[in-house]
Amino acid sequence: MRKRFIAGAICRHCQAKDTLALWKESGVEVVECVKCGDQMREADKQVQSAVRKDEQIIGVFTPE
Ligand SMILES: [Zn+2]
Repeated sequence: MRKRFIAGAICRHCQAKDTLALWKESGVEVVECVKCGDQMREADKQVQSAVRKDEQIIGVFTPE
């Protein structure tokens, strides 16, 4: 599944920047920090703010 990175987004857990990947899983937006593995789901308000505010996507990768 393709994942997109969110520009300027900061991980709430490890405070790393530009490490949040976004993808859809069963129609639900999931954001995961590729550095510490912290996950947020669409239901979480933090996803809304992270995604809506920083809609600019800086990259796409396809995991093996
Ligand atoms: Zn993190």
